[in-house]
Amino acid sequence: MGYYPASLTGLIENLSKLPGIGFKTAERLAMHILKMPYNEASYFSDSIMEVKKKVGFCSECFSLSDNEICSICADPLRHDSTLCITEQPADMIVIEKAGAFKGLYHILGGALSPIDGITPSDIKIKELVDRINKNKITEVIIATNTNAEGESTADYIANILKSKDVKLSRIASGIPVGGELKYIDQITLKKAMDARYAIE
Ligand SMILES: [Zn+2]
Repeated sequence: MGYYPASLTGLIENLSKLPGIGFKTAERLAMHILKMPYNEASYFSDSIMEVKKKVGFCSECFSLSDNEICSICADPLRHDSTLCITEQPADMIVIEKAGAFKGLYHILGGALSPIDGITPSDIKIKELVDRINKNKITEVIIATNTNAEGESTADYIANILKSKDVKLSRIASGIPVGGELKYIDQITLKKAMDARYAIE
């Protein structure tokens, strides 16, 4: 690493800490930053600090927000009687991008994982129950991941909510669009069979 000036070495080291960025990519990005006009580089570094200073969690749904209440929770056109539960803000963003849902979200901030010491009190389950008790929620869609942690989180939530007067559902999982059966793993195939629907 003695090839570069110390400041450039520092930038390369910091960039290589980012997920998916290896040392060579970090070198390339650092060289790109070095060549940026001063204003552009300044805007770039300011935007990192801006995110750190401003972005927090919505006090209703716990997705990322610059304000106390996020833009989705504040939107009067959203159906406020339907909640979609996801593990992370990124999951919510994927559903939003797909335009697949017009209700409100509840972000758990993780999934139950006894091995990693993540228990119900570590994710926003109590807040979910409070929210359902306080508001007129008639339908809850559980959209946690379909891995072991996501499934056990979904089961746990379904168990808690079954005494409430809400329609509960779990997102379907199965064969991806464009997928070929011969490449699908057995668990996915079994789930697709279980979630089969009648052809009208
Ligand atoms: Zn919100």
